[in-house]
Amino acid sequence: MSKLAWNYIVPIKMPADLKGVTPGKLPEELLRKIPTGGKLHWRAADAWNAMVAKAKADGLELKPTSAGDVYRTYESQLAGFKQRYVLEPIVGASTKTFEGKTWYLKKGMAMLATPGKSNHNLGIAIDVHSAGEAKRLTWLIENVKDFGFSWEVFPSEPWHLRLVTGDNPTPAVLAYMAANPQ
Ligand SMILES: [Zn+2]
Repeated sequence: MSKLAWNYIVPIKMPADLKGVTPGKLPEELLRKIPTGGKLHWRAADAWNAMVAKAKADGLELKPTSAGDVYRTYESQLAGFKQRYVLEPIVGASTKTFEGKTWYLKKGMAMLATPGKSNHNLGIAIDVHSAGEAKRLTWLIENVKDFGFSWEVFPSEPWHLRLVTGDNPTPAVLAYMAANPQ
């Protein structure tokens, strides 16, 4: 039970090398390509690769919803934001403030963080493909803690995981790194 309670929403500890970095403009040396597509901050990449390996050993495929749903540049977050939000008022719509203006969420679109405000812009968030499927969600609830991930909004956004362990990889991640040196 305590493990389940931990899993849902845990505050983020940031890797020290993200200090002073502009979200969405990470230097390449902080980013690493991940085999499942896209890039992550190297700490998140280690944790994600370790978790993917454990899932595979358990007979479950884990991958991001797309290569754009791991690290996102400022420009890609901006493009996604402008696909979903408009300046023309929409009655009853959810709103966000961006660049001093109120933006309205188009009908039928999912909410998205404003550019620079998403943990995807720091390379520590991943959207997991089909995370809401019962088998996969059960696995995630039982395992994300072991790799240093937790949710940001739960249960409404079961796909959005972020690394919360900063520069202190969990024992499972350390064991994976030792067995799979970069
Ligand atoms: Zn996300």
